[in-house]
Amino acid sequence: MSGSPAVVMRLVASAYAVAEKAGTIVRKVLHSGELGIVEKTGANDLQTLADRLAQQSICASLSKHFPKITIIGEEDLPSEEIQEDLIETGQSEEILQRSCPPEYSQLKEEEIVVWVDPIDGTKEYTEASRCLHFQAVAQAPHKGLDTPQPHSTALWLLDNVTVLIGIAYGGRAIAGVINQPFYNYKLGAGTQLGRTMWGMLGLGAFGFQLQEVPGDRRIVTTTRSHSNKLVTDCVDAMEPHEVVRVGGAGNKIIQLVEGKASAYVFASPGCKKWDTCAPEAILHAVGGKLTDMHGNAYRYDANVKHMNSAGVLATLRNHEYYVSRVPQSVLQALKSD
Ligand code: AMP
Ligand code: MG
Ligand code: MG
Repeated sequence: MSGSPAVVMRLVASAYAVAEKAGTIVRKVLHSGELGIVEKTGANDLQTLADRLAQQSICASLSKHFPKITIIGEEDLPSEEIQEDLIETGQSEEILQRSCPPEYSQLKEEEIVVWVDPIDGTKEYTEASRCLHFQAVAQAPHKGLDTPQPHSTALWLLDNVTVLIGIAYGGRAIAGVINQPFYNYKLGAGTQLGRTMWGMLGLGAFGFQLQEVPGDRRIVTTTRSHSNKLVTDCVDAMEPHEVVRVGGAGNKIIQLVEGKASAYVFASPGCKKWDTCAPEAILHAVGGKLTDMHGNAYRYDANVKHMNSAGVLATLRNHEYYVSRVPQSVLQALKSD
């Protein structure tokens, strides 16, 4: 490779290291047991200390290296001095070694928008924390913490938790990084927790093994905590062989690219641009598609509205089939931007 890496490759390389740092923060806060939960719009829309610290870490680290980039994070935080130990300066060497797709080699910082979801699946993160807390009480009852809660099987929810950093140019999601902080949690002590996946249009996606749902099976993945009648009507209209209800937009795209689901169907407002930017880039990098329920693309310019008001429909293959099955009631209720 000749010359220094393109700006966007340096940005993706930084985002990779920064997402890993955020994953470390997310694990640390969980283990501390002090989640500092705040309700935003209601009990199904939460923010924890980990959301706050991870966003501070991601935004401060990226803007230190790339001061002219627009960075939009989910959490509304007061602007304050960031602790030095939250700043990540590393970059993925492997990404720096890659050639930039020619169409992105001249991008300038000013033209790039970064969408940050410091924790996608916060609801599931808090539920898993209660489960861990309960187990700790069960193992040390003399500590006399609160009453047992019916959450002892909720640990699987840790897989729903991701850190999302999406990179957009010209209104399109062109690259993304997903860190899954608790990946491999089942393997227990001694195994390295967490993994990082990344992808870029024109390069592909890495950090996982691409797989498709076998045969013609329609396995639909959808929300577990933000459902309503439109969502369930739309899922039913897909005539699924199986429905998988899991948390997080990032996690649902992982289901698609790892052959666990064929379509992500969410016929409701609720998901925002920071939920879909990184997952969309990774999905598109391997030939999949993420749109609203009409089959129209979302845009990720700095000035777009944050809400994905017309729902989320994502597939690895056969997108047109799923678009064609969306009921009229959904299309009428959810208008494209
Ligand atoms: P889910 O599939 O329910 O885990 O949602 C995926 C992402 O969209 C998560 O970041 C949720 O917080 C967000 N989301 C979806 N629906 C809503 C809602 N009704 N209110 C707040 N956030 C939502
Ligand atoms: Mg989210
Ligand atoms: Mg979030």
